[in-house]
This record gives sequence, structure tokens and C-alpha cells, in this order.
Amino acid sequence: MIIVLQPGVNDEQIRHVIERVEALGLQAHLSRGTYRTIIGVIGDESQLQSAPLGAIPGVANVIPILPPFKLASREAHGEPSVVDVAGVKIGGGHLGMIAGPCAIESHERLDAIAGEVRKAGANLLRGGAFKPRTSPYAFQGLGEAGLKILRDVGDRHGMPVVTEVMDPRYVELVAEYADMLQIGARNMQNFSLLTEVGRVSKPVLLKRGMSATVKDLLMSAEYIMSQGNSQVVLCERGVRSFDTDTRNLFDVAAVPLAKSLSHLPIIVDPSHATGRPDLVPACALAGVAAGADGVHIEVHNCPEEALSDGPQALLPQQYAAVATQIRALAELLGKTIASAATAMAT
Ligand code: PEP
Ligand code: MN
Repeated sequence: MIIVLQPGVNDEQIRHVIERVEALGLQAHLSRGTYRTIIGVIGDESQLQSAPLGAIPGVANVIPILPPFKLASREAHGEPSVVDVAGVKIGGGHLGMIAGPCAIESHERLDAIAGEVRKAGANLLRGGAFKPRTSPYAFQGLGEAGLKILRDVGDRHGMPVVTEVMDPRYVELVAEYADMLQIGARNMQNFSLLTEVGRVSKPVLLKRGMSATVKDLLMSAEYIMSQGNSQVVLCERGVRSFDTDTRNLFDVAAVPLAKSLSHLPIIVDPSHATGRPDLVPACALAGVAAGADGVHIEVHNCPEEALSDGPQALLPQQYAAVATQIRALAELLGKTIASAATAMAT
């Protein structure tokens, strides 16, 4: 860490800053320049992260050298991490193909959609049993009954399953049924929920909050990892912007940015990022071309009857078309996509 002092700082103030640094068990190296004086701090920087050094009189700026997301950072793990979801690998050259409806609506409906997306090459089945809806009057999900349907349909089709958990009280319940726990955009900074999913041994799909920076996303990953669960997959799902023609602004640069800062895999969700089925295929491919480790797409066999997010869902045949293009791109990039059945068998 480097502490930059204000111009005109006096010797007493400098002495005081050095005393504060040394009191934390660290070494301070003073360097006086013509215009500015700086103090280099040597030692375990994490000691300093919660110390309000910027509030000491005479301090102009405090510049950390190491990122505050220690476990999620590239420094912590030189190689890209691979997260294994019941045999389906995500990261390190393996693409996760996550598909399914926004919400689990019935056994029949999910079974039909699962059959279609699996045939098209999806290797993980998604569907929400607990839905975070803006309106309290909108369909909230089938709860535990939905989890049972998801587990059963996933097993019937040989697909591991991912579903959202919204409440720390339900983490254990959801983990009983799901192979991967999704933290939704609205809960990215629900720190008690992050702490709870950090205590279970199931992979976590952590979606970016709609006004969160990539570093905020990595700090949330750090919450989960700090509890012992390092199986975190990040997800870029768009951020709020001013253009009303799309649901969100798909931030494709977040993919290489997250990869430059972290070893964690990152996937893209063009369904929530755009809110428009006509834009989903192009954004899915852009995400993979930018280095994403997978794609999360909502698919419904009758969007007009969907209980949630129908207008953005791809029809199964549209999903099959984009999945074919993703496979071609993956081959070009030297990436592999496990087939669902192979994954469950391993
Ligand atoms: C979802 O995946 O259906 C969902 C609600 O996503 P997000 O949290 O990204 O809005
Ligand atoms: Mn949705």
C-alpha cells in the first residue's frame, strides 16, 4: 500500500502517520519528493484494509497494491479455476450450457423443455422455484414443490440442475435438491445470504447486481469464498442503463475484465441482459467470443403462457440454432462442451 501525503504536510503529521502504520505491525518507508511525500507500507496489507488511514490529518490518498478480493484474485490462483457441477465443468476451457425456463411451472412443462434443450446441447438445466419478482402480486414460484420437479426432471434427462436461492433460511433446503445454487442480481449484495451459501459445499452461480461494478461482483464472490466455498461461477447479466429498447445493457467487456482480475469462471446471460429473444443469439456468441465460460439462456416452449419472463425466452428451435453456433465457436476457440449424460455418468 502507498500512502500519498498532502502537499505542505508537516513533520509531526508524517510522524503520526508512521506511528499508526507501525502500530498495526507494518513497516513504513518514507520517501520525500520535491512536490509530494509518500509512505510505502510493507507487510500484510489486509491489516490495513479496515484501518481508516485516509482520515489521518495530512493523508491525501491511500493506494492499495493488492486487490481487496484476495481469494478471488488472480494473485491467489495463477491458473483459471474450473468449477465442477455434478460432472459438468465450467471454466478452464470448458463451457457450461445452462438453459431452461425462467420459472418451474409444472412437471409436464419443465420435462418438455428439458428434453428439447438437452437435445440441443444444453448440459445444465435451470428453472426458478423461488422467483425474485418486482411485484408482490406476480408469480413467486412453486417453492419446494418446484425444487422436487426440478430434481426429478434433471435426473430423468441426465442434467445437473441450477436454481435460485433468495433467503438464507432456505439455503439448506435448496442445496438438498440443486447441484448449483444461483444468487440473483437483486441479492448480489445480500451479505448474510452470501455467507450462508459460502458454508455449503455446492457450486454457486453469482449474478452481477444491476448496478454493481465488476469489482463489487468480485467482493461478493469473496464473501462466499471466505466461508470456505471456492466453487463460484460469476455471471454477467447486464446492468441498468438509459436505453429503453433493451432490458439492461449487456456489458460484454465485463467478461475479459473479470478474467484479468480473477481466476473464477464467468458466464454470460444474454436473456436478462437484453430482455429480447431477437438479440439473445448475437449476445450469447459475443460473450463466448469475449472469453465467457458458458451461456445461461431462458427457453420456453410456449412463451405466451410463461408465468415469468416469457417475452425474453427463446423457443426450443431458436435455442437449438444458437447452441449449434456456440459449438462451432467453441471449437474454433479450442473449448469443450460436456454433454449432459456424460457428465452425470462420471
Ligand atoms: C433469473 O435468472 O431468472 C433472474 C431472475 O435473473 P437476475 O437475477 O439476473 O435478474
Ligand atoms: Mn428470468
